Amino acid sequence: MDTRAGPADRRSGRSIRVPAPVGVRLTTLQRLGATGGIAAIVLLLGLLTYAGLSSTRSARETVIRTHRAIEATQAVLQDITNAETGQRGFLLSANERYLAPYHQALNRLTADTALLRTFAGTDPVQTSELDSLATAVQTKVAELGLTITIMRTRGPAAARAEVDSDRGKRAMDDIRGLLRKIATRQQTLLDQRIAESDRNYNLAEVFVVVGTTTAIVIALMLNTLLTRFANEQADAANRLDAQNRELADTNHKLSDLTVELELQNQQLQDQAVEMESQQSHLQEQAATMEVQSEELRATIEQLEHQTSLAEKAREVAEEATKSAEEANRAKSLFLTTMSHELRTPLNAIGGYVDLLALEIRGPLVDAQREDLRRIKKSGQHLLSLINDILNLAKIESGQLDLHVRDVSLAVVFENVDTLVAPQFNSKGIAYVFPQCDPMLRVRADSDKLQQILLNVLSNACKFTGAGGRVTVDCDTKGDGDHGSGAMVSIAVRDTGRGIAQDKLEKIFEPFVQIDRHLTGVSQQGVGLGLAISRDLARSMSGDLVAESVIGVGTTFVLTIPRGGAVSGELAPSPTRASTDSISTA
Ligand code: ADP
Repeated sequence: MDTRAGPADRRSGRSIRVPAPVGVRLTTLQRLGATGGIAAIVLLLGLLTYAGLSSTRSARETVIRTHRAIEATQAVLQDITNAETGQRGFLLSANERYLAPYHQALNRLTADTALLRTFAGTDPVQTSELDSLATAVQTKVAELGLTITIMRTRGPAAARAEVDSDRGKRAMDDIRGLLRKIATRQQTLLDQRIAESDRNYNLAEVFVVVGTTTAIVIALMLNTLLTRFANEQADAANRLDAQNRELADTNHKLSDLTVELELQNQQLQDQAVEMESQQSHLQEQAATMEVQSEELRATIEQLEHQTSLAEKAREVAEEATKSAEEANRAKSLFLTTMSHELRTPLNAIGGYVDLLALEIRGPLVDAQREDLRRIKKSGQHLLSLINDILNLAKIESGQLDLHVRDVSLAVVFENVDTLVAPQFNSKGIAYVFPQCDPMLRVRADSDKLQQILLNVLSNACKFTGAGGRVTVDCDTKGDGDHGSGAMVSIAVRDTGRGIAQDKLEKIFEPFVQIDRHLTGVSQQGVGLGLAISRDLARSMSGDLVAESVIGVGTTFVLTIPRGGAVSGELAPSPTRASTDSISTA
């Protein structure tokens, strides 16, 4: 596998492994076959064909020479015959004119004899026969010349006698015999050479056919090999192309990645700069915090010091609280004892006033009767104050006896109405009788509940002018009968002078009175009613709160736990409630 790095790699500094194209590798034998095989075959074929053709041509030339040699034997025979014919014509006619063919034949005979020796070859047998032929020809030519010379010199008879000697005939027979031998020999050679030429031709044909077939087979093999090679090259080229495309794609992605990395690098550098500045800022803050830490340490030391002081103070305060609780218990005991001690003589004073008013001790004048009435009223007022103080003392000391049970609100309101209705009537205030569910019951001490309602309604009457209006509404909150958190709220609304917001809590503190000078002397209390009422409400798991708007009116809301279903309880005595609870009467 080859590994090459592209431009994107150099930029990113990374190297990508690019697979090298899968090429086709030929074996050495295949390469040799592909490159030299054909050439060798063609060369061999050429050589063999050339050799065949060459031997064929050589055989053909030999055949031609043989034909020429045979023709030359015939020409020599013809020349000799023509020379003999001319010699016979001269011998018969004694005319020199008839010797023309003789002379022409002799001229051709020399050339034809030379030709025959040229074409007959160098075969020793042949050469020997040619030598014999030459001798026979010379003999014949000499016999012809001799007869002609005799004819000319001695006459026809001498010439004919020479002819009849048959020397010429024997020479002629020799010539014919030798020429026949030479022709036969040449014919044999011709046949041999033709046969050899045919063999060479056939061999050349075989070479051509075999060589051509072999060349075709090798060409087909090479064609197959080259086709396969070309196909594999094409596949390799395709794969290379795909790899190139993939590489280009990878390069493109790498380029994008590089840009992104550069961006991130830039961001990181920016962040690093920012972090450096934050670090220096943090170092400054750390220095500041160290200073602050020092200060804090000093402060902690101070606080520890103060805490130890506070601890000591708390211990002192606990001591003081214990002392105060002791003092409070002593005060409550004192108040209880004193109230009891005060109520006995006051009741005695009341009894004696009644005794005098009944004129049992003697008749009274009007002025005395008026004095007795005032003494009686003041005594009752004093008795009421003493009762309030006694109640508060009992509540604070935890000695209050509560008889909590299911109480019918209808019965409670009936008792209360009997006591408050005359007050509203005498003062000209519209009093709307409470519109509550007659079946509604609460969990409370009936007397204490009446005491709270009497106190709130008496205040409403006391602090509302003539022509005003007082209403009472009931509401239920939470779940049904005895459900946890089920409460009944009773709201007493008046249209009186109202209470400032910042005083709404203070009025529940003992002995607190607001705008006392606005209240008539006859109606002034001591500021214990609301304190006792809230304590009583909370003792019965309820509460008493106030809402008010100056000049518009005040609403006191009493909440008490809701009771169960009606079971025929007896109404508490209104007389008792009135004597124990009305603090402003
Ligand atoms: P007392 O009525 O004896 O003064 P309370 O504890 O009952 O004492 O009341 C405390 C003070 O609360 C009253 O002096 C009065 O100033 C104020 N107050 C109570 N009820 C009302 C009301 N309905 N309207 C206006 N002021 C009220």
